Amino acid sequence: MINHTCWLDVDLDIISDNIKNIKKYLGSTKLLAVVKANAYGHGLYPVACSAVESGADYLGVASLEEGIFLRQKGISQPILVFNTILPEQADDVLNYDLTATVCSFDVVQALEEAAARQNKKAIVHVKVDTGFGRFGVLPEHAFEMIRVINLNFKNLYIEGLYTHFSMAGNEKITRHQFNIFSSLIKTLKEQGYEIPLKHVCNSIAALNYPDMHLDMVRIGNLIYGLVPSKDLKISNPSKVCSRVIFVKNLPKGHYVGYGNKYKTKRPTTIAIVPFGYYDGLEVYVSQPNGILDALKNFIKQLLANIGVNGLGRKVKINGVTCNILGKISMQNCIVDVTDIKDNIFVGDIAELNARRVNLSNSIARIYHRAGQVFLENDIIFAENSFDLSPEPGRRRETSIG
Ligand SMILES: *Cc1c(COP(=O)(O)O)cnc(C)c1O
Repeated sequence: MINHTCWLDVDLDIISDNIKNIKKYLGSTKLLAVVKANAYGHGLYPVACSAVESGADYLGVASLEEGIFLRQKGISQPILVFNTILPEQADDVLNYDLTATVCSFDVVQALEEAAARQNKKAIVHVKVDTGFGRFGVLPEHAFEMIRVINLNFKNLYIEGLYTHFSMAGNEKITRHQFNIFSSLIKTLKEQGYEIPLKHVCNSIAALNYPDMHLDMVRIGNLIYGLVPSKDLKISNPSKVCSRVIFVKNLPKGHYVGYGNKYKTKRPTTIAIVPFGYYDGLEVYVSQPNGILDALKNFIKQLLANIGVNGLGRKVKINGVTCNILGKISMQNCIVDVTDIKDNIFVGDIAELNARRVNLSNSIARIYHRAGQVFLENDIIFAENSFDLSPEPGRRRETSIG
């Protein structure tokens, strides 16, 4: 079946179970399943289908392009685009029946005009910046923006109001952001404005602060098993896999890899796994935050040099965890398999600790679903539990009430 040397193995049944368990935990709160960034690397369309089948009320993507892709594939569930659009993209928001995030009057105006042209209502969620410092209108301008939209932009419907937490693991900071949002809700209510979908929580906030669930929560990491939880059953649906393509013995004192960064300390058996930084191995996202972080990185590198490796530099082959030696190449890494040298063969499967969201698009995604195995383009969602031929606007009314 598998002729690939690198692939992501995704169990869609586990993704479905995770979503169903999250739904159960949430009770009557609606679930927006976050499928941005190619569903955190797992594959946008298959995961979106699983999410809809498993009862997600809404889908969330970062870019307009992702939203359009899902519509072209036939997904008819409401889709919120988190990033603000460029004004010239307003027509596409309406063409594809997407929900836009708004936090500027340029976009509001563009959506108003596009909606008038297409004789539709533009459905929008107003985003408030309660402390993140990214998208959103500042809290002191939020009420006025909503008032003016309601008064002057008749082709816009404000369906939602939301904010995003910058540090959901920190209760003090999160409560502060939540209080700002809550007082805006209170003002709106006092002035007679009713917005049906108010939402603030991501995965960690939804787990830690049930009082903040409001009308809907936006869940990404939990769906992909990336946040451990004692409150609900969540499993890891995926594995980053590759295969050993070459094995050889090196004498003691032989350099390994670019830059001569590692020298063998004993006669060493190495296995080459064709998975490197191009594929998404050992990609650091954040810059070191101050001296302490820089020091941490430095110590990590020193430790790697004497053979003590972080998770990202460990590879599991035949059930045994092995270390990556030296620098990771563009499309290869060199693994120390000395301890299992009598039980390693070309073709063996290696499991890597790469961040799935950083996986190159060139790596195949292989799906397991109801006992069958598919490549992305062969995957069939036959149960018809979601509408494959959307009638713009209709599904939305029935699923959000
Ligand atoms: C990515 C994202 C989420 C999901 O966050 P998780 O921590 O993965 O649950 C929610 N809301 C917004 C606006 C996001 O960008």
